[in-house]
Amino acid sequence: MSLLTVEGLEARHGLLHAVRGVDLALDEGETLALVGANGAGKTTLLRAIAGAHRAAAGRIRFAGADITTLPAHRRVKLGIALVPEGRRLFTGMTVEENLLVAAGRGRAGGGTLATVLEAFPQLRPKLKARAGDLSGGQQQAAAIARALMSNPRLLLLDEVSLGLSPVAVDQLYLSLQTLLAGGATIVLVEQDLGRALRVASRVVCLLEGRVTYAGAAGETTRERVMDAYFGLSGAPDATAGGR
Ligand code: ATP
Repeated sequence: MSLLTVEGLEARHGLLHAVRGVDLALDEGETLALVGANGAGKTTLLRAIAGAHRAAAGRIRFAGADITTLPAHRRVKLGIALVPEGRRLFTGMTVEENLLVAAGRGRAGGGTLATVLEAFPQLRPKLKARAGDLSGGQQQAAAIARALMSNPRLLLLDEVSLGLSPVAVDQLYLSLQTLLAGGATIVLVEQDLGRALRVASRVVCLLEGRVTYAGAAGETTRERVMDAYFGLSGAPDATAGGR
């Protein structure tokens, strides 16, 4: 059984249809890379899965339960954690305080500082530093580490490499590899297609709110995704479930 199933999901900003009839399914331990141009609806889709944006139609199922109308804090308890674009740390608090704020808010048996620091050892010497004083890469690591403190079964990552130096992105992805090796399930919005294809097991491309490509990363070529990205592939891919 899939851990996450999205069926015919619609999400709007006022009259604007940001997500249109999206279907996707994700098994435990899979990593899904969500790609698409600016404004394709990736953030809105992630927020709808997390409960931060209301679904206008369709269904979201998680671990067998229909969570379509469940408020965000109850989804956190079930094990869904969103790392939003822009990190949103408490910049005046220390890194440790930022992490501890999230402890006990999520799924039972929550992450501990020790387990989270295994994936993000670069934060260990920074625990007493003000979050606002960290580099961009360290702040992003802290934002993901904070999400892990809620012991998620599903981690939703929105453009974690945005604005970071190539070295910082490499280090961040090393930490993500550690999480993946530990069996984490991740939906990742990533602008860097090459990186997305390397890290993900599945790829979904959105264009104007619709799925224009879905496939296993191993069977996905850059050309195929670029066509879907720009809407050059004609009808949606047969496996995409797009409408
Ligand atoms: P980006 O890569 O730029 O973050 P995205 O693929 O994540 O893009 P969304 O941010 O989900 O796309 O935006 C989808 C559509 O919804 C776009 O047309 C965008 O302009 C619109 N939109 C997003 N947020 C809002 C908002 N708060 N109010 C009105 N329209 C919005």
